[in-house]
Amino acid sequence: MTIGTRREWLRTMAALGAGALLPRSLIKSRSFAPSGLRRQPAQDPTAAFRAQIGAVPIQARQLGENLTLLSGPGGNVVVLHGADGLVVVDTFVASAWPKLQESLASLGGGAGGGGGAPLKFVINTHWHFDHTDNNAPLHAAGATVVAHANTKRRMSEPHHLAVLELDFPPSPASALPQRVFTDRYTLEANGERLELSHVPPAHTDTDVTVRFEHANVLHAGDVYFNGRYPYIDGNTGGRVDGMIAASDRLLSRADSDTKIVPGHGPLATRADLVKYRDMLSIAADRVRKLKASGKSLEESIAAKPFTDLDGDWGSGRYKGDDFVRIVYLTL
Ligand SMILES: [Zn+2]
Repeated sequence: MTIGTRREWLRTMAALGAGALLPRSLIKSRSFAPSGLRRQPAQDPTAAFRAQIGAVPIQARQLGENLTLLSGPGGNVVVLHGADGLVVVDTFVASAWPKLQESLASLGGGAGGGGGAPLKFVINTHWHFDHTDNNAPLHAAGATVVAHANTKRRMSEPHHLAVLELDFPPSPASALPQRVFTDRYTLEANGERLELSHVPPAHTDTDVTVRFEHANVLHAGDVYFNGRYPYIDGNTGGRVDGMIAASDRLLSRADSDTKIVPGHGPLATRADLVKYRDMLSIAADRVRKLKASGKSLEESIAAKPFTDLDGDWGSGRYKGDDFVRIVYLTL
């Protein structure tokens, strides 16, 4: 998930005019929030995030003869297209649906009705909303949604996400995957072979990576945030050591020509992924030592263990302090 921290949300809300005159401590506390702040639906934090993420335009980039990367409103969507129909990996956020529909139509898909190649399959790399939000309209347009069994289970439950302090209700039945697997699943279409592999708990316990064999493209899902500190969702099984192990698995499947699509961030090479894997390993070791020496979460953040890493990795949504928190909570 790429959504920002609580602090960023507060900044966003302030920019929208919500509670602009309130000190942060008062906005944070529900009991002190003026009734108007709670009454207006536009100020629901999850809705505000969806709107913020959905406002990003979609950029298209060719990954292969019939493989296109769509980047923008909630990560990276990969579309395999051709006469057999469209196979779409991840879905962006709900508010980006009209833009996604337009992009799929431009790749020959009939998502908007009125003909075109059929929408065959949608693959969810994991359960988070910025990757599954458009499952329902894509299924209604003809696609079968494929995901790990845990994605269906997690989407069926309510969740609270730590660090982000966001709550998610269970998804409606229409948004749940129709086809689930536990270890591996293969699909063939348009002369391409897709290998879907479950990853032991890493970003969540629902993660799937997708390998496009002929195009030599790997979609890593949120196991990989390129050039920035990642989010790790400990509330649904995510673990920093699992992120390191998952990065190693991806590296074992990539060569120097492989195009690696991260869940968030620009298209990457194997060398980029090596740097990310090393950063995760250093970060986990440092926080593990702080934790083992008896430091609390707040003391670990105050120790500023990532100051030398922040220049390369702290320009995304999660800053050094946020990432200490994320690592500490998922060790
Ligand atoms: Zn995610």
